Amino acid sequence: MLSSILSKNTCAACKFCCSFRRQSLWETPLFPPEIAEKLQKTNEYGVTGEFAPASDGARDAHESQNAYRLVLENNYRTDDPEEEVPCTFLDPERGCILKPEDKPFDCSIWPLRIMDKGGKLVIALTPTCPAIGATPSKALVDLVQGGLGEKIFEYAKTHPYIVKEYREGFPVVYF
Ligand code: SF4
Repeated sequence: MLSSILSKNTCAACKFCCSFRRQSLWETPLFPPEIAEKLQKTNEYGVTGEFAPASDGARDAHESQNAYRLVLENNYRTDDPEEEVPCTFLDPERGCILKPEDKPFDCSIWPLRIMDKGGKLVIALTPTCPAIGATPSKALVDLVQGGLGEKIFEYAKTHPYIVKEYREGFPVVYF
């Protein structure tokens, strides 16, 4: 959804947002039940994932029974807090192996996030994306204000689990 300002090649070469330190596990993608069910069994990708209801140890109030999180906790090999574990569906050469219809919405809009800021929903920029940077560019703001922001708000109405609690340092792009 951000392909006009963030090329697939750039993302494939980076993969920053597809690897997680323990402190970043709150950012792991959430999957709708039907996709999680498909991906935990033998599937066309030849890769199966481990999933748990997002409501088990929900990371914030918006997560619900209607979403599943990818379980990565068992993949760490050291106690080093800087250790990064890749998403199960990240191929080191090709990037994300999931087709658009199976890819979590969260991943499609990265580094944007819809967040609950004191009871008000906002679209904010995750400031750690190496390609986009910490400050919203005019091109990003134009993209969000030109329709993407409303599209995210609409999706969140039927998939409220994509809403994260607001975090300090995430510039608000749209509300
Ligand atoms: S589902 Fe795909 S895009 Fe999302 S974190 Fe995993 S590899 Fe990355």
